[in-house]
Amino acid sequence: MLKTPIYLDNNATTPMDPRVLEEMLPFFNESFGNAASRNHSFGWTAEEAVDYARERVAKLINSSPKEIIFTSGATESDNLAIKGVFEMYAAKGNHIITVATEHKAVLDSCKHVEKLGAQVTYLTPSADGLVSIEQIKEAIRPETILITIMYGNNEIGVVQPMQEISALARANNILLHTDATQAVGKIPVDVEADGIDLMSFSAHKMYGPKGVGALYVRRKNPRVKVTAQMDGGGHERGMRSGTLNVPGIVGFGKACELCMNEMESEARRLSAMRDRLEAELLTMEESYVNGNRNHRLPHVSNISFKYVEGEGLMMGVKDIAVSSGSACTSASLEPSYVLKSLGLDDDLAHSSLRFGLGRFTTDEEVDYAINHVKTAVNKLREMSPLWEMFKDGIDLKSVEWQEH
Ligand SMILES: *Cc1c(COP(=O)(O)O)cnc(C)c1O
Repeated sequence: MLKTPIYLDNNATTPMDPRVLEEMLPFFNESFGNAASRNHSFGWTAEEAVDYARERVAKLINSSPKEIIFTSGATESDNLAIKGVFEMYAAKGNHIITVATEHKAVLDSCKHVEKLGAQVTYLTPSADGLVSIEQIKEAIRPETILITIMYGNNEIGVVQPMQEISALARANNILLHTDATQAVGKIPVDVEADGIDLMSFSAHKMYGPKGVGALYVRRKNPRVKVTAQMDGGGHERGMRSGTLNVPGIVGFGKACELCMNEMESEARRLSAMRDRLEAELLTMEESYVNGNRNHRLPHVSNISFKYVEGEGLMMGVKDIAVSSGSACTSASLEPSYVLKSLGLDDDLAHSSLRFGLGRFTTDEEVDYAINHVKTAVNKLREMSPLWEMFKDGIDLKSVEWQEH
């Protein structure tokens, strides 16, 4: 028997891999030292563990260990990158380019620096979620100091053309930050090949612990600096003070090593599973995949079911843990701003489900999800007057609705 609810929300967070937990455990009590304690073996043991983790993290993204700044997660990394660059490069300019479909940690950091005098351009992606190089090129000004564009989108999985974006940034002497939280560990991300200057990522999205992440900060060609947002003992090359979360960092390191070794086979397995899920759900009429289907992460599918009411859909699929079209702000009934940025109308945005497959998702669970969603959608449509009209061939756009 399958255990329900079934977890298909791996973009929100992932369960920790047991191999990660095992490596972390000794660092809670036996080896509890402060990695900054230079005078005794308790500190040295902790420091050694952090150094080793830093190497493993760096290896996954092809950076130097010195370029890894440990943080509390991707939210903090995004804040540090955007606010830190804005402050550090104030003399050079005040203009930042980003995209409307970014994570709130990026958008709200941009809003914050706007209040301090930054000019921010929020690009609207095309209907498939991709931004074009021409679009970015047109937005560049002499005062542009930073382009911040996510690697892979958390809601629809679309992967942006990072190498083309970085070539453009380089040619114009502009720094490139990317929120790669959904991409690192899932697809090959290489800060050298991809030409990235700053990059945020997080352990709990890749089978590591919550509360730990990193900001990659390039050290040469060019040497990048950010103004610290957390002042104190000068840890992490002065860019992020605070006693290091040693068990978390150890877990992050192990999680990176596992992704390094298993990413290729895992991506193959998950994309096959994702394709099967999609093919099955698209056998239902009036079902649409959101976002570009060729340039995307292997484990994500976001599907809208037309003529289905959003709240009813979420209730109908309560045996599977998925996100609805109101993903990160699900407390409100506002449809997802990401889907709205693609031009989806409220109905389609509301009636969408995000499926996030993961390392521990099984074929059986996917079968269950397929049947469960099909049943729910069919049932809701049977009760829907709109669906009935659609089946009767009535063009709903031509109907004049009674105001009330
Ligand atoms: C989850 C996520 C974040 C936030 O990461 P935390 O480590 O939870 O702060 C930021 N950006 C993206 C794209 C994410 O998916």
